Amino acid sequence: MTLGNDWFSEAHPDGGSAFSLKITKKLHEEQSEYQRIEIFETEQFGNLMTIDGLYMVSGRDNFLYHEMMTHPSLYTHPAPKNVVIIGGGDCGTLREVLRHPEVESALQVEIDERVTRLSEKYFPELCELNNDSRATLYFGDGIKWMADAKPGSVDVIIVDSTDPVGPAEGLFTEEFFRNCHRSLGPQGIIVQQSESPLYHGKILKALHGAMRAAGFEATQTLFFPQPVYPSGWWSCTMASKGLDLKTFREKDVANKPFETVYYNSDIHRAAWAMPEFFKRLLG
Ligand code: SAM
Repeated sequence: MTLGNDWFSEAHPDGGSAFSLKITKKLHEEQSEYQRIEIFETEQFGNLMTIDGLYMVSGRDNFLYHEMMTHPSLYTHPAPKNVVIIGGGDCGTLREVLRHPEVESALQVEIDERVTRLSEKYFPELCELNNDSRATLYFGDGIKWMADAKPGSVDVIIVDSTDPVGPAEGLFTEEFFRNCHRSLGPQGIIVQQSESPLYHGKILKALHGAMRAAGFEATQTLFFPQPVYPSGWWSCTMASKGLDLKTFREKDVANKPFETVYYNSDIHRAAWAMPEFFKRLLG
């Protein structure tokens, strides 16, 4: 089948594949200081944001990513009071973080203010908690912010970044993770979006190595579906300081005072299950 001009396609050279969505309208396009941002209305996936031609967020399936980037780490930490999000300019992760009543402050450090301003317009549901008194939106480079962060001041760091190229490249390095480790208190967690287990094994292996080399005691990849990202199978990787990543506050999950679409205790445990090839990959 040949697709016409009313389809948006992202090709995945690493997988010899592509993913397409039927577009009903182009809503916006601009070249910001950092990247090319486009917004489309799709036939079945709600609004869609792409950056430099790559899928970032769609109205239909973002709940998978945002919930898995947030709830497993916040329910693994015994008392997540101070949370820092690096990237995440669409504000969907921030919204999930703010659903946790024990969070006292949530700071989003996004390099490109335009991503957030366009999300406010085209993804208002993701930005609905931006005015929460606990939320701060700071626009600047997350690598620099982390290098200057006060030691021991953060409980959970969520790295909700673009792929490891351009401004996000430095967010996958040992040096960045060292700074994260220093900024965390005696019990702390970092979680990083970690690409496709099927297509990006090299990135995942290097990520585990860099997190451990930076001083984190344990690392754990969690797997989840994500239709709009390459291969449709995505992951995030958690690393901990002074905490076991294989236990979480299950009672609190059962009694959570907010609704989720995807996340629950069974999903949390299931996301740990490691395919055989992945065990071999990590050695
Ligand atoms: N979920 C998406 C994915 O995996 O493709 C990521 C979405 S979120 C919009 C990613 C954000 O990270 C972008 O808005 C980008 O501007 C931001 N970003 C990239 N590098 C950054 C850096 N060094 N500091 C802060 N934000 C950064």
